Amino acid sequence: MKLHCEVEVVSRHLPALGLRNRGKGVRAVLNLCQQAPESVPRSRFRDEVGGSHAACLLVSTLKDKRGTRYELKENIEQFFTKFVDEGKATVRLKEPLVDICISKANSSSLKGFLSAVRLAHRGCDIETPLSTLTPVKTSDFEKLKTKMVITSKKDYPLSTNFPYSLEHLQTSYCGLSRVDMRMLCLKNLRKLDLSHNHIKMLPDTIGDLIHLQDLNLSDNHLESFRVTLCQSTLQQSLRSLDLSKNKIKALPVQFCQLREITDLKLDDNELIRLPFKIGQLKNLRSLSAARNKLPFLPSEFKNLSLEYLDLFGNTFEKPELLPIIKLQVPLTLLEASARTVLQKRIPYGPQSIPYHLCHDLDTAKVCVCGRFCLNSYIQATTTMNLHSVAHTVVLVDNMGGTEASIISYFCSLACYVNSSDMLK
Ligand SMILES: [Zn+2]
Repeated sequence: MKLHCEVEVVSRHLPALGLRNRGKGVRAVLNLCQQAPESVPRSRFRDEVGGSHAACLLVSTLKDKRGTRYELKENIEQFFTKFVDEGKATVRLKEPLVDICISKANSSSLKGFLSAVRLAHRGCDIETPLSTLTPVKTSDFEKLKTKMVITSKKDYPLSTNFPYSLEHLQTSYCGLSRVDMRMLCLKNLRKLDLSHNHIKMLPDTIGDLIHLQDLNLSDNHLESFRVTLCQSTLQQSLRSLDLSKNKIKALPVQFCQLREITDLKLDDNELIRLPFKIGQLKNLRSLSAARNKLPFLPSEFKNLSLEYLDLFGNTFEKPELLPIIKLQVPLTLLEASARTVLQKRIPYGPQSIPYHLCHDLDTAKVCVCGRFCLNSYIQATTTMNLHSVAHTVVLVDNMGGTEASIISYFCSLACYVNSSDMLK
């Protein structure tokens, strides 16, 4: 039984000597193999029946192709398997005093390998045939493939799998109508480029790619960006997102929970609004949403601090001179309960309330005071010079303008009066 991975064998004497390990593995092949009878140390197995069948672990590297052998039977002090899903694990031996640190392994092969090692430790028979001691080939140590770029249908792998070690995968112009599930097993993926395909829907499991930093979905048929993705591990990892040239009309409010995003491209969609809480994207440096249907920007837009902004070719409306007052006195039961649900962050969904109410709550307006409002509000529009939020601004129209309309909502007359200076 073999495992291809990177290995570092760390002596536990090192800290006592004031030394540290390098913290870096080398390409290696681990073999679970049969201990040749003559090599069994007599002291240990002399009296045991079957001792000559004990399995041992052979660690072979490019420098040491014959490999270093470690006994396994009753010789494992501890397994560290917290990151086994990321292809990492450590086996701590009793004798010699070493930690065998495994990394960059295929996680499912690693799990199988570790359970066989565990059996060997208990002295059980291992059902999988043990490898015979043949020298490992130099090709076994070749660097793992980390990048793959496919730009035509004919090169798309149908019968072979993607190398599990990939960190950068591009499959463009391949006519994909959905995301290939095999890609979602590539746990090391940092950059995924699926541009120029026909993808309509994204699977929730894209959110399981915990290292994904750069996702390019431009020129597809997407109509939405799913809420589940906004609430996945992408919150911690995603830096760059390209959704340009799709058919997206609006992004969910939860989109603003993807707070690590620095680079966002939304050009050539059908956007009628940007998320109200866009100001929460504190790391955003580059935003382009050219050629959409934006009539206004949300008032939180003023909180952005960008290096580059492109809103060319939108249909910004002229601001109204007078505010539109839609205050309800007293508040309807619906309005009061909606405000409470949002304020107290009470979970809701189509399983508990009618679908149209979910939509209303999802798109609730946010007052400058931070409170929510649904149908009872004062609406005021102003303009802002986009240079106040970005260093480089692409003109919004062919007339040389850099001004865009901003829409603000107020939950009460008091909030409106207090903020009326702001609107001037
Ligand atoms: Zn308010």
